[in-house]
Amino acid sequence: MPQENEALWQNCLEIIQTKIQKESFYTWFRPTRGVPADSNTLKVAVPNGFVAEWLEEHYLQLIKEVTRETVGSELEITFSLFKELGEGGMSPELVEVQEIAVPEKPQTINQPNGSNRALPNFNSRYTFESFVVGENSQFARAAALAVAEAPGKTKYNPLYIYGGVGLGKTHLIQAIGHYVGELAQTSPTGMVKPLTYKIYYVTSEKFTNDFIYAIGTSTMQKFTEHYRNVDLLLVDDIQFFAGKESTQVQFFHTFNALYQAGKQIVLTSDRAPHEISGLEERLLSRFQWGLVTDIQPPDLETRIAIINKKLASEKVVLPFEVAQFIAQTFTANIRELEGALIRLLAYASISSKSITLNLAEEVLKNGTHKASFGKGNKEVSIELIMKKVALFFNLSEAELKSKSKTKELAFARQVGMYLAHKLTQYSLKTIGEKFGGRDHSTVIHACKLVEEGLKKEPALKNRIDKIINSLY
Ligand code: ADP
Ligand code: MG
Repeated sequence: MPQENEALWQNCLEIIQTKIQKESFYTWFRPTRGVPADSNTLKVAVPNGFVAEWLEEHYLQLIKEVTRETVGSELEITFSLFKELGEGGMSPELVEVQEIAVPEKPQTINQPNGSNRALPNFNSRYTFESFVVGENSQFARAAALAVAEAPGKTKYNPLYIYGGVGLGKTHLIQAIGHYVGELAQTSPTGMVKPLTYKIYYVTSEKFTNDFIYAIGTSTMQKFTEHYRNVDLLLVDDIQFFAGKESTQVQFFHTFNALYQAGKQIVLTSDRAPHEISGLEERLLSRFQWGLVTDIQPPDLETRIAIINKKLASEKVVLPFEVAQFIAQTFTANIRELEGALIRLLAYASISSKSITLNLAEEVLKNGTHKASFGKGNKEVSIELIMKKVALFFNLSEAELKSKSKTKELAFARQVGMYLAHKLTQYSLKTIGEKFGGRDHSTVIHACKLVEEGLKKEPALKNRIDKIINSLY
């Protein structure tokens, strides 16, 4: 799939990102890119041999699994250096990613002549232009745009956006960054816009890690300067501050310093401020000072519009019934909706088949269990899955986690792992651990067996559907 590798790999990265630690992802996966190769090969360009070796040694299995899931068939995975590919100059986005420690300085946009430089840690796709507005996100988008037009100058400080997984929070918060960056660059005459604007995007985990690193290396002052010296601070997924007391104290001070200096703060979370348990009262109250707004799952029309927007940028045409089928199947998570679309396009291209409703149903049928996740906008926990599986098979949860390998028990356990893999965002490793300290390869094996079973025995699907229904 010559040209498709880039999109395919991008899609794989989005899945991989949900399966491994953020820092590992940033270190090993962010600096990579899919490059053209023959139809049976996924060629991944990497910055140096070390990254190639590390990926091969530690992540090859995962990469294979994710590509198989995405494309529907086995691809050979090869790594090449950017250098060898004649891509001497890496884009800034690719260069910056290796740093994990506190960077010397936050990203500074400083180009009065308006050259278009990419912001590190930003996905260049996540702009307001590519964000499709529906009723579900109208208010959040309007607030985000208002903030982007006058950072620190609106009542929306902080702006707090929350909503379920894959609904566009990261997209929107980064769109603010892009927009402010552009404004700073093009600084329209007559408006007083700073030509230098410091924009910093972090996840709450990165903030936490930077903080821990600063303590460990006695570089607190650098940390403090770094974070308090920005004009726009974007912090993604702040629910991970829950229960981290000293990080919260640190963030509290950062927040105050920025707020008092009239700097803009934007936060996202998977839940409303008061729903974050283990959050200090004073921090909670600060989160509510500005504007708290949510993003809901999109309705059918919006989902179709999102598909069409994506198609337009990929320059492909899809029969309407197919777009509609995808939009009807993937209801509560736009990342999965996009993933399904890319999977279908990649499959059609590899197999040189034209895209029909039949083909879409065929290719995407494995995704439909995941799609039933769309019933509420709530992710199920592994604990709940274990409970319901145990109940269904008339076993105890302790038995599910036990070492016992009786046929019945092993089967129930496999179904449990399969569901955990399909319905949650947890990594194979975590799922294995929760199911009685098992290895990730055991989980892969379990999923394979259940998937094979589903193909052979229609009755199994009914049973699994029953368990799924009991979960929602
Ligand atoms: P979240 O941070 O809420 O989990 P993301 O912002 O990562 O979700 O969005 C997941 C994917 O869905 C991204 O590829 C994003 O571009 C896409 N997406 C989400 N919302 C929209 C939208 N309204 N229009 C277009 N694409 C969207
Ligand atoms: Mg996100």
